[in-house]
Amino acid sequence: MIPMTLAEIAQVLGAGLHDVPDPDALVTAPSAVDSREVVPGGLFAATPGARVDGHDYAGTAVAAGAVAVLAARPVGVPAIVVEDVQSALGVLARHVLGRLDPTVIALTGSVGKTTTKDLLAQVLEPHGPTVATDRSFNNELGLPLTVLRADAGTRYLVLEMGAGRKGDLTYLTGIAPPDLSLVLNVGAAHVSRMGGGLADVAEAKGELVEALQPDGYALLNADDPYVAGMVPRTRARVVLYGRSPGAAVRAEKVTLDGAGRAAFDLIMPSGRARVELGLVGAHQVANALGAAAVAVTLGLPADRIAAGLSAATRRSPGRFEITERPDGVTVIDDAYNANPESMRAGLHAFKAMAGGRRTIAVLGGMGQQADASQARHAQVGRLVAQLGIDVLITVGGEDMPAMAREAELSGLGTAVHRSEDVTEAITLLKELIEPGDVVFVKASSEYGLGACARALR
Ligand code: ATP
Ligand code: MG
Repeated sequence: MIPMTLAEIAQVLGAGLHDVPDPDALVTAPSAVDSREVVPGGLFAATPGARVDGHDYAGTAVAAGAVAVLAARPVGVPAIVVEDVQSALGVLARHVLGRLDPTVIALTGSVGKTTTKDLLAQVLEPHGPTVATDRSFNNELGLPLTVLRADAGTRYLVLEMGAGRKGDLTYLTGIAPPDLSLVLNVGAAHVSRMGGGLADVAEAKGELVEALQPDGYALLNADDPYVAGMVPRTRARVVLYGRSPGAAVRAEKVTLDGAGRAAFDLIMPSGRARVELGLVGAHQVANALGAAAVAVTLGLPADRIAAGLSAATRRSPGRFEITERPDGVTVIDDAYNANPESMRAGLHAFKAMAGGRRTIAVLGGMGQQADASQARHAQVGRLVAQLGIDVLITVGGEDMPAMAREAELSGLGTAVHRSEDVTEAITLLKELIEPGDVVFVKASSEYGLGACARALR
């Protein structure tokens, strides 16, 4: 955060100060919307959440060191009072970014945003101070918080942007206009909120490249027809990446090692180099190529990009997080999110890393799948059987019986176990599990299956 006084911030926001003894008090640290994440010297933005109202935590936040609260009403502690806290955060972020000069890299896609963001940040860090989105802070609150972490020294600002519905990316790119926009893929995540079809998802995601100026760059996945179809929607220069022969940034000679980790030859106009990823699954090649496309456009040489990708080990929790137990059981916690694409990729990666060991998949629902939900859950059941996964535990109701039934019919038979909820699934798992097993846990986050993985660790 560039240091700003409360008076300056109030002026930028056209807001009033309440209960502020010193308008010249400086905000120097990042802001937070969760009072538990307040750092001394920062601002606390009081937003109404699903369960709690941030205004109730104003006192806690100030006690934790917040200089003031950005609030919709006076709260009895120093506050900058605005009409709408969420949009005020955006306005403040836009203002701060206008005073700085980092290269802004925006990335979106239905799956792989966080993974790619983490890879890219790790490739860029050795080349200049980099600020990247924390976890999946990719919405109208998280994005401003990330931007507000930038300061005069920041060279690269890597921003994960999520699109729950049309217009979201136009809003987010209005706060942080990108110099480079990376679009990973178009899939069935959030499809029910976007109009129901993949074309609608593509319509929403393409806003990211519409936001570019002519001197910007659109980095597009040539292997995804919906993404490649975004070329006419941008005024900027286009760099295609993928496994397609026409792509400027390509992967060749893709291999998976015994632990399911992918390696490939990275081929770009400026050279080629072998990449050996620490991440599991063939789908990670596409994410790595997306990060490489950004890095090469920024002028990094192929060998440095390959070295950065190969060395990248940091990742956000709940995404194919692997724990080895002393008794030889491997637990893979992928319960942070799920949709048909990530289920498919995750199950393939699971199978690839298990080798000949016994495999147990513990699966829950994939949210927001619109009318096709039942069929999509059934398809997952079929894939589990086709991949030769040994045991399937389904968790919960809704479309899960469809998944279980399809798995049974596709050959898994009595190896399918249905559980009503997470508690029952944990009991079942503990009965079934044997030393040497590999357990894969995945569902959309709202189903809470992370608890199954945690119970096993
Ligand atoms: P969110 O919208 O929740 O922020 P995200 O787009 O940031 O999701 P990640 O957190 O990177 O996505 O990954 C989510 C899930 O998708 C993980 O299970 C991951 O293994 C899987 N995944 C990542 N990249 C791909 C890909 N290219 N294709 C298919 N699945 C993928
Ligand atoms: Mg994410």
